Order: sequence, then structure tokens, then C-alpha cells
Amino acid sequence: MSGEARRTQLAANLQQVRERVAAACTAAGRRPEEVRVIAVTKQYPASDVRILAELGVRDVGENRDQEAAPKATECRDLDLVWHFVGQLQTNKARSVVRYADVVHSVDRLRLVTELGRRVRAAGRTLTCLVQVNLDPESEQGVLGPRGGADPADVPGLAEAIEAEEGLSLGGVMAVAPRQGDPRAAFDRLKAVADDLQARYPHATVVSAGMSGDLEAAVERGATHLRIGTALLGNRGLIVG
Ligand SMILES: *Cc1c(COP(=O)(O)O)cnc(C)c1O
Repeated sequence: MSGEARRTQLAANLQQVRERVAAACTAAGRRPEEVRVIAVTKQYPASDVRILAELGVRDVGENRDQEAAPKATECRDLDLVWHFVGQLQTNKARSVVRYADVVHSVDRLRLVTELGRRVRAAGRTLTCLVQVNLDPESEQGVLGPRGGADPADVPGLAEAIEAEEGLSLGGVMAVAPRQGDPRAAFDRLKAVADDLQARYPHATVVSAGMSGDLEAAVERGATHLRIGTALLGNRGLIVG
């Protein structure tokens, strides 16, 4: 596909996503400015990030450091906000803090300590979201763990983040379980978020909702949506 054709396609997809978000906000009685769309560009090239930036996207998300690090370097001139949304191994913290502005997947104390140590060494700062596991029973299931802390462990993680120089608590993130009504899951996330915000008023982010459930997420109070497929296309169809 030519660059021009890709640009036309991404512009159409972006328009469609913006219309879905606007409609969901209207239905929920919310203002569209309350909801940010993060373009999850995993498995798509830096050239797509560049086109999306030209189309007005300011936030991009990635889930694997090996892919994200070179892409962020290639796109450094674009002045984007980089969100790391995937499960994060402790030994990748050093690399991730060099380009990420927000890590959505903070789910254990050891990772908090390591991100703090590495972000200070890099002379940067980092916003951390506590990833909440909304489906503890699926943890041992055939689909494997999806990451995230038990809701009971969220206050301790939040406190650790706030105590770590260079890190700040942004709020919470979750992925809806594959089974069941995502609205029920997002309600559980919102309850955790409200508790956290009562204690840390600046922790306003509720990162929830992907291509398939963004309407439910907006209805149930998401402030950030992580949108891959609906913007960039079906990752399963990429060849090579
Ligand atoms: C890939 C990914 C997304 C985007 O999912 P889509 O269904 O393609 O919109 C959102 N969040 C996380 C954590 C992801 O890994």
C-alpha cells in the first residue's frame, strides 16, 4: 500500500473512532474532552505513528519494549506521549523509562522499585498506573494470566509509587475479562479508582476500553481508551 493510501485509511479509521467516542460520550452525558484516545501502534511501523501524529494523535501505546524502543527513537521528533501498556518484565524497566511517559501496567512492588531506580538514573520522570486484575479467577485459566494486581493490593502499590522519587501515581488501568459483561468489570475498576482518588486527588486516570468495548468503558467512567485494531487494522492480517 502506498503512503498516501495508508494515510487515507488511517484518517478514515481515526474519524470513525472519534465518532464512536463522541456518540458514547453523548449517550453517557460526558464531554468528549474527558476521554483521550491512545493509539496502540504495536505491530505497526513507525511510519504509521508518523501519519497518526500528522492527523492529530498525541498519545501512542506499545506493549513490547523490543518493538517500542526503536520506534520511539525513530519518532522522537514528533513530541508524542508514549504509553507502555503491556506486561512489563523487571529487566526491561531500564529501557522503558528512557522513552515512556506513562506505564499502565504497574502491578507489583518489585517493579515500582526498579522503575524508580531506573527513572532517576535516566534523569527522567514517569507516571505510573496501577494495573488492576478484574478477573482473578481466570488467572490459572487456559488463556493465561492477563496481568494486574489484586484490588486489595492496589493501595499498597499506590503508596509505594508515591513514595518513589521520580514516579508519580496517575491512576488505574485494566483489561476487561474476555468473558462476561465488560460494564460490570469496568464498574469494579471505577470503584477502585474512586477509592484511590479519595486519597490521591491527582490520580485521575482510568485507562479502560479497547476497540471492542470502548462504549462500555466510556459509559463506566474511562478517561483513557487504548485503541489498536479500530485505528490501525487487524494485527492478525499483517504478513511478515
Ligand atoms: C493491544 C492492546 C490494546 C488494543 O487492543 P485493540 O483491541 O486492538 O484495540 C489495548 N490494551 C492493551 C494492554 C493491549 O495490549
